[in-house]
Order: sequence, then structure tokens, then C-alpha cells
Amino acid sequence: MTDFKALAERILQGKPISRKEALTALTAPDAQTFTLVEAASLLRRHHFSNTVKVNYLINLKSGLCPEDCTYCSQRLGSEADVLKYSWVSHQEALTQAKFGIAGGASRVCMVASGKGPSNRDVERVSGMIKQLKDQHPQVEVCACLGILKDGQAQRLKEAGADAYNHNLNTSEDHYTDVCSTHTYQERISTIHQAQQAGLSACSGLIVGMGQTDEQLIDAIFALKDLDGDSIPVNFLMPFEGTPLAGTWELTPLKCLRILATVRLVAPDREIRMAGGREMHLRSLQSVALQIANSLFLGDYLTSEGQAALDDLDMIRDSGFEIVGAEGRDLLAEHQRLAKDRGDESNLASVDESSRCGLPVVSDNLQGCGGCSSMEARHPTENSHLPESGVEFRPVLRRRGTGTPSRPNA
Ligand code: SF4
Repeated sequence: MTDFKALAERILQGKPISRKEALTALTAPDAQTFTLVEAASLLRRHHFSNTVKVNYLINLKSGLCPEDCTYCSQRLGSEADVLKYSWVSHQEALTQAKFGIAGGASRVCMVASGKGPSNRDVERVSGMIKQLKDQHPQVEVCACLGILKDGQAQRLKEAGADAYNHNLNTSEDHYTDVCSTHTYQERISTIHQAQQAGLSACSGLIVGMGQTDEQLIDAIFALKDLDGDSIPVNFLMPFEGTPLAGTWELTPLKCLRILATVRLVAPDREIRMAGGREMHLRSLQSVALQIANSLFLGDYLTSEGQAALDDLDMIRDSGFEIVGAEGRDLLAEHQRLAKDRGDESNLASVDESSRCGLPVVSDNLQGCGGCSSMEARHPTENSHLPESGVEFRPVLRRRGTGTPSRPNA
């Protein structure tokens, strides 16, 4: 049986994990998984103490992408009924950002669908970034606009962007299985451009989309070699209407092993439990926080996340503090914000409807539609199901950016 604690102590002494050891961690038996989590937690605590970084996503432009990434609900030919809109206004982007910042976010991630931005798109986003940084200089801004062309990373940096996100998602030899309209090398090149412009690189994974364990190890080591500062780990959300609908390869324990392996390979990097954590980690999300030191608050680009207040509770209950919000009572701040807006009904409904204080309504035009980020249902024929025999599906986002409804923040 592998002594994961001894391995973590060796890593702390500056002796990196080998690929073989990483594969052993990734494929550890379920019964050894919590020992592995304890080992990864040593590294997490050493580098990040008891802090959690909260990030907030704004989808500036949704759907209608000409690319064919199989995992994406915004892809070419997607039949997923996601929100589709072109660029939101500066004002809407700033308003949405404020919700996330009030919820404790110290980083706002500005995302747009598409292969990559035109120079005009970069100017538009640069204007948003500049305004946001003028108003909230303490908040980091990460742009995620796809594959960059020469000079675009520098322009974003000049506007005040702190970081650029572009995920590798999977290994080089698996990449052609998930996308045919751009290449793995283009992704690597974009990250290098961002780094050369002085932007902090954020690049991560989508797991559970058919990679072998060996391919996942390749991808994790490729991310380490890229030397990015943050590594989001997304768990595939199998949207109906996309080629990966019905794909269910992960268990909560497997998700923990993946996060722990990333931590052992990249011990001092910000590791984010990102999209899909709710439906794949389920009741083990708080355990995952012992490994990951970062998460997204609120909703994802096209689907709902769990209620923001549930995340804030989870962070507090687990004994962690939110970076930049030390000593703040975020629940009280949420309530004060609602009162300032004269939104007494939201205050009154905290206990009787949704955890976030939004009224639950069926047409989703005013309220949030409830706080579930996933729908549990009986299996379909082609589903690969966890032992529980329950299939979870993402709930499509109908609130926040691009809608008249308040966001989940
Ligand atoms: S991941 Fe990005 S590039 Fe790929 S289909 Fe989705 S929005 Fe388009």
C-alpha cells in the first residue's frame, strides 16, 4: 500500500512526484482515497493555509460558437437550450461583476464564446476591464476569450487584466477526440502569449470525457510544465444536445483522487474545483476543499451552480476563510444589499423559499428558479451511471448575465 503521507512530505521537501507515483495516486482504491486526501491536504495547508479563493464568472457572449468542442453546450450544432446572446453592454458586465464581488469574489472571470476575439472584441473587453479595475482595484480580472492573436494579450494587460484563462482540457493525444476546429498547440501557444505579456496564466482540465488515466496524467504534467498559476479542474457536465450527453464516468471518490493527484503534481498552484463539482462530488464537496483552495461562486456559463449561500456556508463550516473577505459577514452583507435595493420580498423569503433569498418562480423571469444546480432523474438507456443508479443533469442557466433576473451570487 502506498504511503501517500510520506510522499507528500517528500514533495514538501522539494522532491517532485514521478509520473508513476502520480498514476498510483490517481488509480488508488476507494478505500485508500481518504488517506490520499489527507496527504494532499498537507500540501494545500502548507501553501494556502485555511484560505479559499472565490472566483465569479460572467458570460459576456453566450452560445453560437463556430467551434465544435464536444463537451461544450455552446458548440457548433449544439441542441442544448442554452442562453444565446451577443456581447453584453459594459454596464451589464459591471453590474454582474458587482454581484460576484459582493458575494466574496476576489477574481472576476470575463468569458466569451468563440474561437478567439477580434481586435475590436479585445477593445470592448479592455474597456470593461478598465472600468471594473477603476471601481474595484483590489479585485483581479481574468479574461477568457479563446485563442489569442499577436498583441491581444498585451492589450488586455494594458487595460488592467491580471490573468488569462485558456484550458488545455485534456492530453495532446486525446485532443483530436474532443475538438476538430482548433488544435492543442494553439491552446499552448495562447497560454504562452498570455505569460509573455505578463498575465497570470490559468489553465486546467475537463475530466470525465473519455480520457484514460494515463492521458489524464499526461494532461496534468502538461499543465505543470506550462507553469500556470491556477489550475481549474472541471468535471464534465454532460449537456443534452451535445455529443457527450449521457457520459457519466466519474464518482465522487474518483473526483477526489483527480484533485489530489493535481495537488501532488502542482502543490503550490491555485487548484480550483470548477464546473460540475456539484453533480460529481455531490456530498463530498467540502472534502474536496481540503485539496482545492479555490472555487467558482454562483452559476457557470450556461448552467446553474449551487446556491451561492450554500457555498459560503460550506466554506465557513469547513473552517476556511475567503481570500479578501476575512472577518466579513457575507450573509449580512447580502441581506443589506437586498434592503438597499428596496427588495424587501427577497429578505422576507430567505427562510421560506430559496437559500439565496430569491423568490422561486416557475417562469424564471424574476426569481432564480430554485437552488439546485442539477436535476436528478432516472437513467436513460445510454447513460453510464454511478452505483446509485441516479443520473444528474445540468440545469440550464436562466438568471444572471443576459437575463433580466438577478444572478446567483
Ligand atoms: S469551448 Fe469555447 S471554443 Fe469550444 S465550442 Fe465552447 S465556446 Fe466554442
